[in-house]
Amino acid sequence: MNTLAPWTKYSRKTLEKAVKEVINRRAQVRIEDDIEPLFQTEIDTCRGVVLAIRMRDAQAVTNRFLFRSYTPYSEKKRRNAQSNVTPGLKNPHEGIRISLLKVALAGTAAPFYFGHYHTVLSIGQEQAARRVPTNIMNGTGISRAKTDRRKGKSHVPEGKSRYEFQDAGFSSANNPCNELYREIQSHHGDNMPVLVSIGTARPKEDFVGESPRTNIMRGLHQLGNPDEVHENLDIEKDDGKYSYHRLNHEKGIKIEMDEWKPKKDGSATITKMRTEFDNWLKEAEVQGKFIECAEHLVRLRRVRMTTPRWERFALGQYFVCQVQNCPKDRDNQWLDRVDFENHLKREHGVEDYSDNLERALDTCRRIFNYRSRPESS
Ligand SMILES: [Zn+2]
Repeated sequence: MNTLAPWTKYSRKTLEKAVKEVINRRAQVRIEDDIEPLFQTEIDTCRGVVLAIRMRDAQAVTNRFLFRSYTPYSEKKRRNAQSNVTPGLKNPHEGIRISLLKVALAGTAAPFYFGHYHTVLSIGQEQAARRVPTNIMNGTGISRAKTDRRKGKSHVPEGKSRYEFQDAGFSSANNPCNELYREIQSHHGDNMPVLVSIGTARPKEDFVGESPRTNIMRGLHQLGNPDEVHENLDIEKDDGKYSYHRLNHEKGIKIEMDEWKPKKDGSATITKMRTEFDNWLKEAEVQGKFIECAEHLVRLRRVRMTTPRWERFALGQYFVCQVQNCPKDRDNQWLDRVDFENHLKREHGVEDYSDNLERALDTCRRIFNYRSRPESS
């Protein structure tokens, strides 16, 4: 029984508007995105992983749900070799090709603040394949449609299902490092990954008293405690399976999660955060941690920048063919330098680009333009 009223402190509509505004500024719309930008990145690149909690029938059953910007390795394996899924992978057939907006809303569905997020997603391909073929209405199709009508809900199309999500911050997955490590392991086996965990300067609270509010706050605080995962990773790093860097203000800063003072521009809250951060950064031990972590990451970056995918990954690079006599009129964008080079060589004559391939590549090259937030007047 769900005894908590569906009251929320903030409007989901306002959150949705804010998220859309950021997506419009920051996301690059690609041909494969259809209507709205997807969370998915190009093959063999990765934007990231978002962890949410999937609710079932409004019960807080903690089913962790991973949104991935890539196709899980085991998924590829299954397609190629019809083999089984690597055990331990979370929802490998769901959460793929989802819009950025849906992923952002599922990951921020904080109870009490914005409420749970309800949406309709395509069900996993493996599940879909197992379904009895249907000419629209038979078997489960009919019974589900009837049930939906009884509940006054709209019909969910074949191959899709309803999902209800909650922000993973309100669970022990508030620190997603462990989940991420498991994911890396299942994809890359024994490769030693670097885990950089950035904390949120969460204070170690003592909730004194037994009032209902205090009890709820204490419960939520305990539930979202990131230290347990951190401590485990910190101990197990000595086994040499991964490198681990944790950057966090251990004592914590006393700022409520939704503090924003004064309401007009939040300037007092921002100043408080900046001052606390600057003071923390001056500590010798913290400086040392930053240098150690940076050296490690720069070393890896230098190796990665020698790979062909680097420019696409780091600069959002793409090519638009502007060479004369191009046989393509609409579909004239390439994300990969080699693919674009092949287009020039195969579909153009050398006279189209005056036999100067490098110059043509340079002229047609575009990089992602970061659009910052317009200054409020
Ligand atoms: Zn062309």
